Amino acid sequence: MSAPTTLHYPYEVPRSAALFERAREVTPGGVNSPVRAFQAVGGTPRFLTAGAGPLVTDADGREYVDLVNSWGALLHGHAEPTVLAAVREAVERGTTFGAPTTGEVRLAEAIVGRVPAVERVRLVGSGTEATMSAIRLARGVTGRPAVVKFAGCYHGHVDALLASAGSGAMTLGLPEGAGVAAAQVADTIVVPFNDIEAVRAAFERHGERIACLVTEAVPANMGVVPPRPGFTAALAALCREYGALFVVDEVITGFRVGPGGWCELEGVEPDLLTFGKAMGGGLPAAAFGGRAELMDRLAPDGPVYQAGTLSGNPLATAAGLAALRLADDDLYARLDTAASSIADAASAALSAVGVAHRVQRAGNLFSVFFTGDEVTDRAAAGAQDTRAYAVFFHAMLARGVYLPPSAFEAWFVSGALDDAALARVHAALPAAAEVTAEATQEGREE
Ligand SMILES: *Cc1c(COP(=O)(O)O)cnc(C)c1O
Repeated sequence: MSAPTTLHYPYEVPRSAALFERAREVTPGGVNSPVRAFQAVGGTPRFLTAGAGPLVTDADGREYVDLVNSWGALLHGHAEPTVLAAVREAVERGTTFGAPTTGEVRLAEAIVGRVPAVERVRLVGSGTEATMSAIRLARGVTGRPAVVKFAGCYHGHVDALLASAGSGAMTLGLPEGAGVAAAQVADTIVVPFNDIEAVRAAFERHGERIACLVTEAVPANMGVVPPRPGFTAALAALCREYGALFVVDEVITGFRVGPGGWCELEGVEPDLLTFGKAMGGGLPAAAFGGRAELMDRLAPDGPVYQAGTLSGNPLATAAGLAALRLADDDLYARLDTAASSIADAASAALSAVGVAHRVQRAGNLFSVFFTGDEVTDRAAAGAQDTRAYAVFFHAMLARGVYLPPSAFEAWFVSGALDDAALARVHAALPAAAEVTAEATQEGREE
């Protein structure tokens, strides 16, 4: 995906631009995670200096309503006082021990208490580690090598899961990026999302070799693509039939779409689940968990090795526990209301000026695709007008709303979005839609 070159950016951000230049001297691409570089939308990434509730401030002193919320890590917005107090209290007692702590027990109990399918949980440092470890465990338990994943699903930068090539028909995995050896994805089978027949065909052909099928509970890394009704349950049934483990990645959905995540809402009990983002309360924490008989195959009780120097870090467990305690029914109701408010207003604004789009939603997770067609898989997601999104993104940014800097990401609400913040979003949408309509009109006339 290349940066749109014909965009003009509504205003200058000299301090962010200078910082980006400095960063590029010492850090590849100037960023520590690629999407932050704004390559999908063009322009200068904003260097953020502070956040408070629903707002973030950039190095040039501009303020934005934040609809990224650290990619979902912040359920309660920025600098939530209870979360900060918990971290402060923890930091005074030391930042890491490399020995067991009470905080780890409490956070694990909170997760087990919320997610019916989780009897035991292991804490790790990132979502990548969580899915990597879950797959190792699945292979260790089943003694089988192969993994089935869906095109367009992201599970962190785990080598075996960076395969998502293959449009339409089922394909054997091919590495998506340089540095992933063919051998590392040779046992990865990639199928299109929402296509149960393709999954069944993969199991019929490779069933005896399949250790697990891994899916995002709701794919949200190609934009939001909800599973069709019954799809998740059908995946669980296929896995059971073939003796493979059903691994559901709830790194985004876990504790965000509901108290126990998406599978709890759907009434599906996977064998293994992964969590991250929201469960760390804004600090680096993630986890994988499942039935005791499976999880107990991990070291030290079992033969599957898994470890981490900073796993269960006291600051992260304190932040995560504080964030989960605040995540009550009232919060989920507010997240749903905020999501409806923004999604409906975005759709109305774009409809009013005739811009083809689709809002796709699963609980409070949603994204806006610039296409007229329903998006059910990666191929359909890829057909949207990414240039229209880039224009819309910059028009919103200029009006004080920070959307995800890519058309293939979910918009994240937080409990901190108050009436004033929502009003700012509502105020920005019609003009941004108008700018987008003009740009796509020009595009058509060229
Ligand atoms: C973000 C994400 C990951 C990776 O988590 P990191 O903490 O960035 O390593 C894994 N799975 C899903 C669904 C994600 O959205």
